[in-house]
Amino acid sequence: MEGGRRMNGGWTRIAFNRFETSAGIATKRESLRGIEHVQSTRYDGIRLRRHTRPGTGAVPSVDRDPTNLRKERSQSHVHSSTTQDCWPTLKRKRGRAVDVGPIRAVPKAEELDEVTEQSMVEALRRLNGQDIHWQLKEADNLSLSYAVVLGKQEADFLFASLESSTQYYSGELTQIRVYGKWHPIPRKQVAYGDTGLTYRFSGITVPAKPWTPLLKALCDAVSHIACTEFNFVLINRYKDGNDRIGEHRDDEKDLDPAAPIASVSLGQPRDFVLRHQDSRKRQKARSIPHEPESANLLVSDREILNPFVSRMPPELEPVSQDPKPWKMLMGVTGITGAPDPRATEQEAQLFMDLLDGEYSIECNKQMVARWDYITDATEEHLEAMEEANVAYAEFKKSAWQNVTSSEFDNWETFSEPLRRRFQKLRVAGTSALPSEELLQFEGLLGEMENIYATAKICPFEESGNPDCTPTLPLEPALEEIMALSTNYDELAYVWEAWREVSGAKIRNQYVEYVSLLDQAAEINGFEDASAMWVAPYDSSSASEFQESIGSLWEEVRPLYLQLHAYVRNKLSELYPGQIGPTDPIPAHLLGNMWAQQWGNIASRMLPFPDAPDVDVTEEMLEQGYDAQRIFELSEEFFTSLGLLEMTETFWSQSMIEKPDDGRFHEALGDTLALSVGTPKHLQAVGLLGPDYEESYEADINFLFGTAMDKVAFLPFGYLIDLYRWKLFKGEITSENMNAGWWELRTGIQGLSPPVERTEEHFDPGAKYHVPANVPYVRYFVSFIVQFQFYEALCRAADEFDPDDPEKPLYKCDYYGNHDVGALLTEALSMGYSEPWAEAMELLTGQREMSAQSLLYYFQPLMEYLEQANLEAGNCLGWGDECLSTRKEIRQSFEEEAEEYLLYYEGEYSRRGNSNALAAWAYQTDITQENLENYVENSLELGAWLKAEWETNITSFPWEDLPEGSPSRRKFKFLSVLGAAAASAETYEELQRVQGEMETIYGTARVCPMAEPDCDLEESGLTLEPDLELILATSTDPEELLYVWDQWRAASGAKVRTLFQDYIRLSNEAAVANDPDGSLGIHDMGDIWLRNYDSETFKDDIAVLWENVKPLYEAVHAYTRAKLFEAYGPEHVDPEGPIPAHLLGNMWAQQWENIFPMVKPFDLEDTDITDELVEQGYDARRIFEVADEFFRDLGLMVVSDSFWENSMLTKPDDREVVCHASAWDFLDGQDFRIKMCTGVDMTDFITVHHEMGHIQYFLQYANLPVLFRDGANNGFHEAVGDTLSLSVSTPGHLYSLGLLSPEAANMSAEAQINFLLRRALEKVSFLPFGYVMDLYRWNIFNGSISDTDLNAAWWALREEYQGLQAGNERTEEMFDAGAKYHTIANVPYIRYFVAHILQFTFHKTLCIKAGQYDPDDPETNPLHLCDIAGSSEAGLAFEEMLRKGSSEPWPDVLEELTGERTISADAILEYFAPLTDFLESFLKERNIPIGWKIPTNGNTIGKKAPFEEKGNVLKPRNTLANSE
Ligand SMILES: [Zn+2]
Repeated sequence: MEGGRRMNGGWTRIAFNRFETSAGIATKRESLRGIEHVQSTRYDGIRLRRHTRPGTGAVPSVDRDPTNLRKERSQSHVHSSTTQDCWPTLKRKRGRAVDVGPIRAVPKAEELDEVTEQSMVEALRRLNGQDIHWQLKEADNLSLSYAVVLGKQEADFLFASLESSTQYYSGELTQIRVYGKWHPIPRKQVAYGDTGLTYRFSGITVPAKPWTPLLKALCDAVSHIACTEFNFVLINRYKDGNDRIGEHRDDEKDLDPAAPIASVSLGQPRDFVLRHQDSRKRQKARSIPHEPESANLLVSDREILNPFVSRMPPELEPVSQDPKPWKMLMGVTGITGAPDPRATEQEAQLFMDLLDGEYSIECNKQMVARWDYITDATEEHLEAMEEANVAYAEFKKSAWQNVTSSEFDNWETFSEPLRRRFQKLRVAGTSALPSEELLQFEGLLGEMENIYATAKICPFEESGNPDCTPTLPLEPALEEIMALSTNYDELAYVWEAWREVSGAKIRNQYVEYVSLLDQAAEINGFEDASAMWVAPYDSSSASEFQESIGSLWEEVRPLYLQLHAYVRNKLSELYPGQIGPTDPIPAHLLGNMWAQQWGNIASRMLPFPDAPDVDVTEEMLEQGYDAQRIFELSEEFFTSLGLLEMTETFWSQSMIEKPDDGRFHEALGDTLALSVGTPKHLQAVGLLGPDYEESYEADINFLFGTAMDKVAFLPFGYLIDLYRWKLFKGEITSENMNAGWWELRTGIQGLSPPVERTEEHFDPGAKYHVPANVPYVRYFVSFIVQFQFYEALCRAADEFDPDDPEKPLYKCDYYGNHDVGALLTEALSMGYSEPWAEAMELLTGQREMSAQSLLYYFQPLMEYLEQANLEAGNCLGWGDECLSTRKEIRQSFEEEAEEYLLYYEGEYSRRGNSNALAAWAYQTDITQENLENYVENSLELGAWLKAEWETNITSFPWEDLPEGSPSRRKFKFLSVLGAAAASAETYEELQRVQGEMETIYGTARVCPMAEPDCDLEESGLTLEPDLELILATSTDPEELLYVWDQWRAASGAKVRTLFQDYIRLSNEAAVANDPDGSLGIHDMGDIWLRNYDSETFKDDIAVLWENVKPLYEAVHAYTRAKLFEAYGPEHVDPEGPIPAHLLGNMWAQQWENIFPMVKPFDLEDTDITDELVEQGYDARRIFEVADEFFRDLGLMVVSDSFWENSMLTKPDDREVVCHASAWDFLDGQDFRIKMCTGVDMTDFITVHHEMGHIQYFLQYANLPVLFRDGANNGFHEAVGDTLSLSVSTPGHLYSLGLLSPEAANMSAEAQINFLLRRALEKVSFLPFGYVMDLYRWNIFNGSISDTDLNAAWWALREEYQGLQAGNERTEEMFDAGAKYHTIANVPYIRYFVAHILQFTFHKTLCIKAGQYDPDDPETNPLHLCDIAGSSEAGLAFEEMLRKGSSEPWPDVLEELTGERTISADAILEYFAPLTDFLESFLKERNIPIGWKIPTNGNTIGKKAPFEEKGNVLKPRNTLANSE
């Protein structure tokens, strides 16, 4: 490389570190950081300020006194950091000028040939005594000291010596995990240090190698200079520009926060670049040049560097086993070789910042030229403007070429908002055209604009004179005529003549323009120009955006139709005989050249002509208002909001910062105008006289005037671009350019041309924005969104309250409200770097555009117009479709439904919230008082639910509501009440029976085997934890069978009679829900199945089971064979069902507890329990890890109140219900988890499961309360489990620092172990999850009779699970009742569904995250896929979660996965490697698959990691628990 000596390798960073002997721990997380090493030669705009020393003695010299240094030498080279004469002294002089002096290499160079390691060590020792010439770099609170500490020869020698002696890490330690992906570290790396030190970062633990003499000498030298005893060095070696280090944070707790940061650079020069972490200061990156061919030492105080951190998300905070902090010294050596053609993110950032600067300069030039022309349309200005346009376009093109060059082809990997800036700039528009076409294009634009700007017509009086001189320009002459004249013929003449001299004259140019624009679009990678135009709108596709605009229009169309009918009727009175009652309105009669806003004719047709009009124009003229005064008035409005400083940026940003997306600022400006225009405000500023009196009539007049501008505009704002989109797409061609225009004008606006139009004309060209190439739909959007903003600001100002008739939206004026000002300031300061939806959400709480606020605003007018049109017999619309205005009965019926639901949902939230709080109070503190409160509350809630159901819901003909409407869906939910629908007697009896069963279950005890006649109170064993622990850990078959049998005797057998009552009462209650049989409810099973909303659900589940059965049978056969080996033939029949007590679980529902006994390969387990304990994890930390996982996917994080209110560990001062559950308190903000979390792997996964429920709650919190539920119950259970599939991958656990590299890098055998363990947990569960409900469905519907309850249970257990009881079972017993969910009335099929669905979700998200390719399952197998950090996956998941239960679940599923049915494909794919293994294992050993049904029955069990509490009365969506 130029000027550099080519060494055999490049650029190395060396970091010395040290543990202090003191045991003090820095508890505060230190965020040292942010030195970035990049080649920065391209960014020559980055400069450092250099301070010069004033020639006074007042400032101590940096140069050291040699005498002092000699003294130091005689001492130990270990110095306290308070020593005055070393580096910290220099630091304290910061803020004063300090001389940098000449750069000198010290010590004096020796000949390179003669340098030996010994002499080098000597030289380094001598370094202590040498005169160091420090340079101080200061800027923006950054202060760095650096000095050249070695001459060329020494530096070269040191570098060469390090090259030959340094042993860099290899293998595992050369990989790093960033954003969920493994990357080779793009450099060589090694750490040396004092014995026993390790260093953790980015999930890697780096053991230090013992010092070499040379490194030790270097470390000592630097320690001396920096007055810090470093004890550790990290060496980074960069072979060339392809090697680098990304933005990173060195915020390990291990580092001593008091120690400075120091680094030594060797080799080829390469600059440091520091970037302030505050993004607003990011333009001010600082580079520290590295003197060529010498060794630089750089030292800075950690605190000073702190603000200079990167903005990357922090890596997992390392948990040190050694609490001693470190001191760190970093070093750098130089670079050779070719630079990486691709930019690092930092480089891209710098590039973008520079580009930003240039952009504003170039843009400004162009705007000045444009302004000159617009304000003074001379030939000269036109030329200058065209020139400026071309120059600007050329600049944009070169910027675009840079942005789209291969250098930045990794732009999609950049973090936000940088990625977004690239995304935006990758669309260059017409600037991307080749130069010739670009010139041609600009020429066309200039020509068209010029024709438009200079067009004039003859006055009406001379209209018959072919030789007249055209003298009337559009502004102001023609516009005034259009606004004020009532002469039908004059208006028609002006209307036509203007089109003759403007639009018709540019028709040919426009055809060419369209073709060039489409060409530019193609170069930019768009299908046509319409797609390019809507690209800035952040929609996933152009057609999607265009559709969303279309549906907004549909929302407001009914209002427009009312206005149109009213105005047409009034105009027909004003122009008798000219307009028929079903005609479109002639376009020239609406007070505007383009009929785009009709405000000019409003005063001629006020609804109440005698009531005051709020048009203040006259008053303004009278008071001598001029433009300046008007501006001051609006300025004053801003000031009143506390927005003084914002005004300037407000307007300038609206032009410059958001050139492509004007919606936001345009809408905001108009939003303010809505407030300014209220009568209240106009009175306040004296424009509305004291005689203006508020009245209904005045209000309607006011709203009418506003609607004539705002509502009349909407179809026009929509169709201008609709027309051009069609033109660009070729749906309208040069053959029918004018006819196509009028089709839209008539079809959408309901207007007709006053004179005949032909294809000689080009009427859209008579509107400025068309020849001027300005997209228009932004105005449409702005007109809708301004009302959304207005409503939000009015709510913030408390000037609008939907429940207070004194505060309607249209009267709201938030003048002087500082809350509004603060909200606006925040929104404005978001700038263009944030997606539109963010700003929108900040202001309104909504992410979508909606016309609801607008409709709300105009509601009184709408009601007035409906009545007026009805009375006048006006039809709505035009032509054949002109409809009668008779208000349809249907509509009022729908409104009634909505009104009722509004009431219902309000009450439901309130009562449900109170009930959930009572339940929470009881479950987290079991006292009699809390129980009574809860029961009382539940009874109240139940009474209310029942009363509403009886009196309002069942009597309402909701089935007549439109198919697919939200109201109908809600009523359908409500139409079935559940058990509470029964008579009070039956219901109370049912409650009692359930309560008794739960009590028996909850208090059941078993004597230990050694003491079978124990006192149960004294020494009886409880299910949790005693019996479960025995089942999980004992390998004594006698003990297992004893415990298994005794539990069933103590629980199930005792509730058999009660259970029979429960079935009978439940069915009575079920039928009460459907007295006339219209809902098809015959028993309680039908009610349970309604959640799945499908006629074929049972059959679908049966098919699913058939699909997974072969996998289950393989696992079953394998497990049986292993148990046979372990227990022998007296306990296990090698061809029969497995005895249920041998599977590690009371119900044999999940078998992972026996994994150690059956594991295929004798390898160490991947259990992280030990590591969690060792690293000091507690419950809170585990929940944080889960929360961070969601956050990194771009999903929501829990709020502070979650942490405050949840119960995450078992309290020791009171009794609580421990089983894990997630709670939604139905108020949209209170969500909690109750769990007695233990620090082990099972709970680690359970926490993710529960946090999945919370995430679902958070995502649908904004939906109506009746839709705040899972798409179906299985969805809810699958969310957390889906994420657990990623979280529990070895790669992910490794990235969390919970698995060693060895354990994480799984061999094929280890993967089989991993999969088998997973199968014992997930696959074993499937038949159990199925049988639990299959059994109960059959009891409810009578297929299983009371007399063979137990035999039927075992028949199913045998048939589906291949299990048998270990001893004889009889009809005295009731083994199904030994499982909590049976006696607690909790449907169970949701868990079966969830166990299948979670794999479907996992696979889908893995594909979205780019982590899994179904066509290549070998390279990155599904079971190792980790979606961590993928915003694509997060977004897709979020879309699903946000829908709650508002749509049928097949629709929701289809949107995410493309499939409408639940499929077993993904789970089979996931376990495919295990299937292969099991098949050959079984085949080789000739092990039979399946089981022979035995002659007599046996038993089974299981631990329920998560239990669901079933209370019929609780709001059905408050709780989401576990299986
Ligand atoms: Zn759950």
